[in-house]
Amino acid sequence: APADLSALITSGLRDVPDFPKEGVVFKDITPLLADPASLRAVVEGIAGRYAQDSVDVVLGLEARGFILAAPVALELGAGFVPVRKAGKLPRETHRASYDLEYGSETVEMHADAVSPGSRVLIVDDVLATGGTARAAVELVDKAGGTVVGFSVLVELGFLQGRRKLTDVEPHALAVL
Ligand code: AMP
Repeated sequence: APADLSALITSGLRDVPDFPKEGVVFKDITPLLADPASLRAVVEGIAGRYAQDSVDVVLGLEARGFILAAPVALELGAGFVPVRKAGKLPRETHRASYDLEYGSETVEMHADAVSPGSRVLIVDDVLATGGTARAAVELVDKAGGTVVGFSVLVELGFLQGRRKLTDVEPHALAVL
């Protein structure tokens, strides 16, 4: 990513210590989204990188991934598909689970949302431990799609989440 875009994101983010629980520094992207120039720059920054990749659908990860994935899809001439927490989607789904520090999380995608052979870009706001990203890749695999990329605004490098992604090279506009 260009250095100025990375700087724009770094300065637009707000660190919120001990949210949603003690020891976590939450990266609040809402100031970035609220600024017209920043919003355009991040959407174009993600879409621009995959402009030559014939993306059919952009997968957004609940909930902040939705906000970015839909305009990126428009920019790429692709469709939008939501990946949601378990129990939210009304029809038949593919499911993938991953472990958290305590317990586990399950995400779902409508089984017919990605056709076999579809080229899929996955978008989220933050790559942390990589569990969510890996589950999303699993969902695309189950549907028979091809993951052409995984893109986030911010990667928390010290958590080494990219180690969980073996078949996909994640891309971050800013790495912290
Ligand atoms: P992970 O599965 O650990 O990579 O976590 C990624 C998901 O959790 C993303 O959907 C993020 O929105 C959210 N997340 C994790 N850590 C943070 C953080 N420090 N600040 C903001 N969001 C986070």
